[in-house]
Amino acid sequence: MFQIESLVVGPFRMNAYLLHCPETGEGVLVDPGDEAPRLLSLVEKRGVALKAIWLTHAHIDHLGAVPALRKALGVPVSLHQGDRILAEAAKEQAALLGVGGRYEGVKADTLLKGNETLSFGPWRLRVLHTPGHSPGSCCFHYDGGGSDDLVVTGDTLFAGSVGRTDLPGGNTDHLFASIRFKLLTLPTGTRIFPGHGAPSTIGEEIAGNPFLTD
Ligand SMILES: [Zn+2]
Ligand SMILES: [Zn+2]
Repeated sequence: MFQIESLVVGPFRMNAYLLHCPETGEGVLVDPGDEAPRLLSLVEKRGVALKAIWLTHAHIDHLGAVPALRKALGVPVSLHQGDRILAEAAKEQAALLGVGGRYEGVKADTLLKGNETLSFGPWRLRVLHTPGHSPGSCCFHYDGGGSDDLVVTGDTLFAGSVGRTDLPGGNTDHLFASIRFKLLTLPTGTRIFPGHGAPSTIGEEIAGNPFLTD
């Protein structure tokens, strides 16, 4: 199994994830939102050959460190096409949120459509397009065949909560449809790794998430 490690970064306390393969040394960063030097030193400390950056969506708290990491490591960035404009408008997002001008727009190298398989080393994860929090929000799902299943959920599903839909492009109906049909249908033992806060499992969220009770 590959390793998944999180670092809480930036003023929004976002979980950046390093996924890496102990056998091949290959890995990817998901949502390097801030604090590029800390993320770089984790990559170095683990001896990871970084293959790519995958973004669950294009809010600035999830992509703030992308320009610096790209400069340092030259790795390609994947993002759903539905969030392309948001990614390029990082400065405008920062102004809207009142957090200053240190953010740079990001142009993705690969625009995802959903259902693609992304990989590092021998490991393959599927892109689940889960719009609602933003038009191009995605989750990255590893199907371990019943053991080790996991999904990186970005700001779509949290432990005990769901993503906000009041930012530009948000849509509450889409969010709940995405969660219900693309996430809650995964095996209950599937671990979830959200963009903020603690990990959980699909089963715990079905049983106890107050936003998901009928
Ligand atoms: Zn977000
Ligand atoms: Zn976020």
